[in-house]
Amino acid sequence: MDIQTLADAVKNGERRALARAITLVESARADHRAQAAELLEALASSGRQALRIGLSGTPGVGKSTFIESFGMMLIGQGLRVAVLAVDPSSTRSGGSILGDKTRMDRLSREKAAFIRPSPSQTHLGGVARRSREAVAVCEAAGFDVVLIETVGVGQSETVVAQMADLFVLLLAPAGGDELQGVKRGIMEMADLILVNKADGDLKSAATRTMADYAGALRLLRKRAQDPQDFPKAMAVSALEENGLQTAWDEMTTLIDWRRENGFYDSTRAEQARFWFEEDVRQALLAQLTTHGPLRDAMTDLGGAVARGELTPALAAQKMQGLLQRT
Ligand code: GDP
Repeated sequence: MDIQTLADAVKNGERRALARAITLVESARADHRAQAAELLEALASSGRQALRIGLSGTPGVGKSTFIESFGMMLIGQGLRVAVLAVDPSSTRSGGSILGDKTRMDRLSREKAAFIRPSPSQTHLGGVARRSREAVAVCEAAGFDVVLIETVGVGQSETVVAQMADLFVLLLAPAGGDELQGVKRGIMEMADLILVNKADGDLKSAATRTMADYAGALRLLRKRAQDPQDFPKAMAVSALEENGLQTAWDEMTTLIDWRRENGFYDSTRAEQARFWFEEDVRQALLAQLTTHGPLRDAMTDLGGAVARGELTPALAAQKMQGLLQRT
């Protein structure tokens, strides 16, 4: 396959090329990895930037409904929208497949939309890196907005936040008046909390939940990359398509502010460094299983530790010595 031709076709917005390019970056095969690196290098020259929005929420909260309504609204405004999914779980969580086209029926039929379900499951680090590269491919293909969907289980938000310009947390109205056990770390990552299902019988509960989270957000430490009033909590209804324009206005206000104040570029620069380091870390780790002598040493030293002949600390030092000589 000629990588330069593929890159040109992606930049021309050809859908089949886009799908092929993403398949290539998702592949774990060593020869594909080399081609993927070449492709990403060729695409980087496009200089295009999409607004990358990370979207997280537990199964059932309304992620697909939201993406469909929100995506259709953006398309109505002349924007092109890509949807990618990062699913960290080995078994699909709660029956919902992230980025499932059948659950985004209208959006998936739009020419201006591109929906990609999460790649097959492996180690989270691998999935995350490949998703990050898929984002870069969509960006080069000229999408204005890339929505990165993930399920709210803790570790996946962290990696999605590392590839997004802003992070949206979708929540459901709480039954009682307590916060829904949302981990503090996830709250701290959110730029915008959207309490969904603010319609019908759930409307007042949604408004109450929104107020609770607005209060909780005020107690968090102020981040340098936030203007006044951010992070924010809002109530929306993905089903009735209420509050979506306001949510979009808030997102663009936040991003415009970050652009003007240098945080947009500095965050992207830090993220690029993170992914470089992550790639090196993963490659080093992989050597422990792919490099024959290192793999054998791991087995031998591991056996010696298990038999009580070596302490873990000493065995690890021997391993380190071996790594340095490799
Ligand atoms: P996901 O698992 O997070 O992708 O959630 P879905 O989008 O599949 O939605 C789960 C359920 O919640 C479905 O039955 C939706 O119809 C419903 N739902 C989603 N958004 C809303 C909303 O804004 N209001 C109401 N009342 N129900 C909603």
